[in-house]
Amino acid sequence: MNEFALIETHFKRLSDRTGALLSAREPELPADLGIGDDCALMRVPDGMQLAVSSDTLVAGVHFPGQATPFDIGYKALAVNLSDLAAMGATPAWFSLCVTLQDQSEDWITAFCEGMAAVTQGSPIQLVGGDTTRGPLSICVQVMGVVPAGQALTRSGARPGDEVYVSGCVGEAALGLALALDPQAAQWQQALDHPHLLARLHRPTPRVALGQALRGIASACIDVSDGLLADLNHVLRASQVGAELELDLIPVAAGQDRMISITAGDDYELCFTAPAHARSQVIALAQSLSLPVSMIGCISKAQGLRDQDNQALTPAGYQHF
Ligand code: ADP
Ligand code: MG
Repeated sequence: MNEFALIETHFKRLSDRTGALLSAREPELPADLGIGDDCALMRVPDGMQLAVSSDTLVAGVHFPGQATPFDIGYKALAVNLSDLAAMGATPAWFSLCVTLQDQSEDWITAFCEGMAAVTQGSPIQLVGGDTTRGPLSICVQVMGVVPAGQALTRSGARPGDEVYVSGCVGEAALGLALALDPQAAQWQQALDHPHLLARLHRPTPRVALGQALRGIASACIDVSDGLLADLNHVLRASQVGAELELDLIPVAAGQDRMISITAGDDYELCFTAPAHARSQVIALAQSLSLPVSMIGCISKAQGLRDQDNQALTPAGYQHF
């Protein structure tokens, strides 16, 4: 099958509803011109800013050998949506650059179905991309919209703000340990394997939470490289420090606390909000049925410390 047939048969199904892969929900902002021309054409509504982000997944680095093509498609889009979530943006469009080695048509079908599964939660339209041959890698670029001036940046944390994290951290790392060593050792017997593997392969981007935090959160980031490492990016961008109450951080059952707060791939949101907004944060977490925990507060003194004033090293996943 050549490049053009691949695009026609597989990728186009992610760009319009006639392809049946997409959710019954119409994209909120359909492109004026999608796949098939030299460029796609989209309109950003008046008063909105375009939020753009890309992430590349490379075989062997970003997904363990046994990740299914469905998982790979799912995760490639989900981790990008997580970046839009962290900015408080509403997903609108994405492009897909794939380098394929010798993947079968069944592989590509399952890969596209994985991507389509993510779009059920957040309608987003494929508007273009590139298809080449070489070692397997996938680069997704997402585009979303956010009311001008209301994006949740990393630089808005202020002394006295409270620090929050959604969900729980460390489960994806535990899932990875299980994926790499499926011959479960003694300590693994009690774990919820399907849940932990789903947390690794099919993370849930916290898109609704990010949007709801507009006007409430002062800064936000998604936890991709590890809670401490990612929070530290917020601290540096905001030129502040933080004091964390380690016992308040919800970590994976059966996982060491320090590993949980330095491990990556959870795609939860870590955000700060002024103390007076606490009741709003609690109310919106309840309305989304998503646990959100207050885990510390922002200080004027820079650096990251625990409740006993001990310095915490913001270790996390390093790409280089
Ligand atoms: P060009 O040579 O002008 O770059 P291509 O032949 O690469 O165009 O692509 C033809 C059309 O198909 C373009 O609209 C491009 O955006 C789209 N396209 C190519 N690969 C993909 C893909 N993997 N997913 C979605 N659209 C794609
Ligand atoms: Mg091209």
